[in-house]
Amino acid sequence: MSVRAWGAAVLRPYMTMGNGESVVRRGKTAGKMPALPGGGHIVPAWGAACRAPTRVCVIRSAAVFANSNGGGGKLARKIGRVGYDFYSMTMYARLRSMLLKLDHIIAHSGIGLSGSEGVLLSFLFHGLFDDLGGTDSEGGEAQQGITVEMFECFVEYFHRHCYTFVSPNEVAHGLDSNGKYVLVTFDDGYFSNTKALPVLERHGIPAALFVSTDHVLQGKAFWWDVVERESLKRRMPQSHVNQVHETLRRLRTADAEAFVQAEFGPRALRPVGDRDRPFTLPELSEITKHPLISLGNHTSNHDVLTNYSAGEVRAQIESAQEIIGSIVGKAPNFIAYPNGEISDSVLEAARASGMQFGLSVNPGRNRLPIVAGSLAAMKLKRFALTGDAAIEPQCRVSRSMISLYRAGQSVKRSVGARFAAERA
Ligand SMILES: [Zn+2]
Repeated sequence: MSVRAWGAAVLRPYMTMGNGESVVRRGKTAGKMPALPGGGHIVPAWGAACRAPTRVCVIRSAAVFANSNGGGGKLARKIGRVGYDFYSMTMYARLRSMLLKLDHIIAHSGIGLSGSEGVLLSFLFHGLFDDLGGTDSEGGEAQQGITVEMFECFVEYFHRHCYTFVSPNEVAHGLDSNGKYVLVTFDDGYFSNTKALPVLERHGIPAALFVSTDHVLQGKAFWWDVVERESLKRRMPQSHVNQVHETLRRLRTADAEAFVQAEFGPRALRPVGDRDRPFTLPELSEITKHPLISLGNHTSNHDVLTNYSAGEVRAQIESAQEIIGSIVGKAPNFIAYPNGEISDSVLEAARASGMQFGLSVNPGRNRLPIVAGSLAAMKLKRFALTGDAAIEPQCRVSRSMISLYRAGQSVKRSVGARFAAERA
């Protein structure tokens, strides 16, 4: 099979037809699909409706949103603009891998490891797994693929290198500008975070859980885990799944959830077990009594805040504040932005909602001191380790002052922000 034919084959289930409305009329199941805001419908792309791939089908991803009243039409145009070129993605993956290898060489040689004082390194985790088999044997919701053993390896590495583990509260109270600190964070509110407790207790280190409160209250699975799980069942290639993720994360949470329910059935958002489920409210209340655990804001419905108006951003942050405040008695002043997506208006809205520290997903070292409410404090950088590579070298790279990969990411972000501003 030629590369081009293969590309077309793997993208076919997500392909976009040029004219969504005509697809709705042809699609057998279109009438059963949930309505979108504004009256549109999501058309299932898996095995339905799309029979005649066009050039657009090959290079564009995801669902077709059709609507005659405007709301869904807007979404359709938004999705239509997310054109992912398969070949560019492959090139990007190669470049990323090359830069990471160079970073490992630089960090291993010791160049860049001087001047490691006066920094706060923050790390992002999601679910934790007992072993690697557990990350993919039942449903593909591997997230970062970090096992408990890897997590402990990470903790031991920074202990060995004399870093002090701190809680968000300690960061807020101010850190010694000559110290070396690590902040451990878990995003989303996965029940499997409980697996970290024995490690935290053994080493006496704090951790912060940034929880999406609606997921806790409603006991629903996260849409990206559903996509992973169902794609694995259908044996879809990972590159292809990544494209769907990229498209759905540009939608409002309710629309992304409507998409996965339309594609995979109305029960798709039911967690399949302890690995993909959020905490229940009683469980969350219980774990927050632990002296090493604190809670942070991750919005009410894991809302990617750049997809909402300033007023909506505030409402989503404040609604989560209320729930967390009712659990721990005090609303937090730390937020982890869902997917790390921020803009000037999001930062402003977060500040107006009482946030003084914000965590992004941009990898990098945070220089001390960190002043509450400052721009640096509202955009704290975070590293995310992954289980597909050895943990210690990743930790070593995070300590290094020099990182070609991080420099490349920074360029990519500023170019992306410019494109986003032009599109808006
Ligand atoms: Zn999240």
